[in-house]
Amino acid sequence: MFKPKSIYYEKNIENYQLGKELLEKYKEVPKIEIENHNAIEEMRKKQNKEFADMKRNLIIGIRKTHKFVENHKISDFLVPYTSSGCIAACMYCYLVCNYNKCAYLRLFVNREEMLEKIIKVSNKSDKILTFEIGSNSDLVLENTITNNLIWTIENFKDNKGMLTFPTKFDMVDDLLPLDHQGKIIVRMSVNPEEIINKVEFGTSRLRGRIEAINKLKEAGYKVGILIAPVIFVDNWRELYLELIQRLSEDLSEKAKKDIFFEVIFMTYSYVHTKINEEAFPNAINLYNKEIMTGRGRGKYWYKEEIRKEGEKFFREQLKIYFPNNKIIYIV
Ligand code: SF4
Repeated sequence: MFKPKSIYYEKNIENYQLGKELLEKYKEVPKIEIENHNAIEEMRKKQNKEFADMKRNLIIGIRKTHKFVENHKISDFLVPYTSSGCIAACMYCYLVCNYNKCAYLRLFVNREEMLEKIIKVSNKSDKILTFEIGSNSDLVLENTITNNLIWTIENFKDNKGMLTFPTKFDMVDDLLPLDHQGKIIVRMSVNPEEIINKVEFGTSRLRGRIEAINKLKEAGYKVGILIAPVIFVDNWRELYLELIQRLSEDLSEKAKKDIFFEVIFMTYSYVHTKINEEAFPNAINLYNKEIMTGRGRGKYWYKEEIRKEGEKFFREQLKIYFPNNKIIYIV
């Protein structure tokens, strides 16, 4: 159970039900009032080595921008939702943007406004739209603090459209009894156990994630598997083959019947390198100049020949172990 070290909060959260509940829930935790969750001077000044410690704080505010971004992968729109940032610390996390500014968990208490906008857009559309609500944080993790996922599923189920989110966590038991009406697509992100241990600090183990997939399928949810991000460590073939074999052995028949795959290769950045070498000095170095190349604005990705080799590998192996399952994309 996450117990924040301090809470930084905007005064207005007291005007929202969830804001009141969180202030009551954490009444023993020291609190600092802030003007704006986007600009906490004290956090900006923190050193890279304080990165993990900084994530022990909780920031609570009101989301002011509700701009939907068109998307053409698994959803129609990426939607800013009830949180941003995370208390885990995956070394490649793309939420680590401008240094330490937005890596910590921020909760937004105006969930009614956010869900209302989704419902309005969805119900007005001629086609069935899918909204990605988890691109800024991990909602299964957030749910353990706010119950927002339960609230969202219960309040969305009678409307048109679908909601989807990725997760690296296995705390799904509270979602199982919900009447979700088949409108939720959970996408479980997996990696080989060795990579989870060395890179995805603070997330659920592989076994827990596989069990969560089986439970969610049993409860009638639509579920996908994100093999992501694929990291081309020296023994990647061996590790990812073991992962695919393990999935094939441990997933239930129900899960294997219609689960789909997304495969995403890791992108990395100069900012990650700087933070990680100071915050996690004993961790492995994910930047490998032999096989990575610049992608503009301090970002790196794997060279084309490596990505092609990776794509071939995943297509071949998934065809062997999951011949009837769809691969939505490999990027
Ligand atoms: S669990 Fe997701 S959001 Fe949290 S640190 Fe890892 S990649 Fe980032």
